[in-house]
Amino acid sequence: MKRIIVIGGGAAGMMAAYTAAANGASVVLLEKNEKLGKKIYITGKGRCNVTNDCAPNDFLTKVVNGQKFLTSAIYHFPPEKTKEFLTEHGLKIKTERGNRVFPESDHASDVTKTFERALREAGVEIFFREQAERIAKTEEGFTVSTQENVFSGDCVLVCTGGMSYPSTGSTGDGYRFAKDFSHTVTALKPGLVGLNVKGNFYKDLQGLTLKNVTLSADVCGKTVYEEFGEMLFTHFGISGPIVLSLSSVLNKYDLSGVTLHLDLKPALREEQLDKRILRDFEQYKNKQLVNALVDLLPVKLIDVVLAKSGVSGKKAVNGVTKEEREKLLKTLKNFEMKVYGFRGFEEAIITSGGVELKQINPKTMESKLCKGLYFCGEVLDIDACTGGYNLQSAFSTGYAAGVACAKE
Ligand SMILES: Cc1cc2nc3c(=O)[nH]c(=O)nc-3n(C[C@H](O)[C@H](O)[C@H](O)COP(=O)(O)OP(=O)(O)OC[C@H]3O[C@@H](n4cnc5c(N)ncnc54)[C@H](O)[C@@H]3O)c2cc1C
Repeated sequence: MKRIIVIGGGAAGMMAAYTAAANGASVVLLEKNEKLGKKIYITGKGRCNVTNDCAPNDFLTKVVNGQKFLTSAIYHFPPEKTKEFLTEHGLKIKTERGNRVFPESDHASDVTKTFERALREAGVEIFFREQAERIAKTEEGFTVSTQENVFSGDCVLVCTGGMSYPSTGSTGDGYRFAKDFSHTVTALKPGLVGLNVKGNFYKDLQGLTLKNVTLSADVCGKTVYEEFGEMLFTHFGISGPIVLSLSSVLNKYDLSGVTLHLDLKPALREEQLDKRILRDFEQYKNKQLVNALVDLLPVKLIDVVLAKSGVSGKKAVNGVTKEEREKLLKTLKNFEMKVYGFRGFEEAIITSGGVELKQINPKTMESKLCKGLYFCGEVLDIDACTGGYNLQSAFSTGYAAGVACAKE
């Protein structure tokens, strides 16, 4: 019987440990925390968006880095299988807008409990408060040393996650283990994270959520991102779903060449918006301009939009010239922003970068440099959009490694 050591009891490690045990291996799971899946508790705002209920080819379009690498793992263990796994182990699930799957209870803790139950039923030995410090290759296989113990096995699965929200236990230990075995670790950056924008305007907009806007980004004139949806102004700049996804795209560019364009009225073409503005002007013709935009924009945004367009809000509506109206219209359709930085790992949903994919077998997650050593989940240089895609990537890579390592 194969003896497997899994390091890390997060999404990838739990799935890998369960799968290896279900395929006949004897498995120990080492988790440095006092409980499993500490990060899972905070996913999906405490509700855990556990996967995205879509077909593998659709899934792969949401993978920003590592799309080709993930193909085999996602086809062998697609979102459908995650749903099946959870349901078979007693978790009721539901699918919401955008195919996002959640536990029916809306409690992320139920996902972790389901895994823990499955792991125990499959005979996985779970060790809490065991932080792997060193992996060594021996003649028989491997040893993994923690502060107090040494575990021996035929294979080691490194499922230690990335570096985001380090308080959950993901402190980047896996990158060190990878380097110890001569693996390359690509540049590590906070991924799916808020953006610092230039200027002061956002301070007046703090807390304002815009629900139906289109955000696009160009790099030296070439559009690299465009998404419709929800965003949020914060004390540092911008955040919210379409900004988080944008951050993953911007990771590979020099920010000095990036310009963001926010269309505040994407449902209206310029001519339609102009007519709409004229209607409002007619209704509020005896008021100041600042008071004539209350139906068009959230109050907080009015002064900021007027300042950006260079038109005084104090002007009487019937004194606004055609040129001024055009400037206003252009700002509404294209509110430009410059980005100067990303927020840090403490606030990032994922880590961009990780163990170089060329050095890993995409079918098994086994290292091409060291037989018997596997890497799964966020420790790999894979990143995907929000919507359940990152947990699913962890489950699919964990499953691939679990099956492969258990084979004689
Ligand atoms: C706020 C937030 C919300 C999110 N929401 C979602 C969501 O709704 N849907 C989604 O798909 N994704 C979401 N994600 C991303 C998702 O949580 C991660 O991509 C996923 O958890 C990665 O799984 P993993 O198993 O690779 O790593 P992790 O979940 O980070 O697990 C790694 C585990 O390894 C343990 N560990 C680390 N080093 C050692 C060591 N040396 N010895 C022993 N144990 C060790 C850690 O304690 C941890 O338990 C969210 C992330 C955050 C931060």
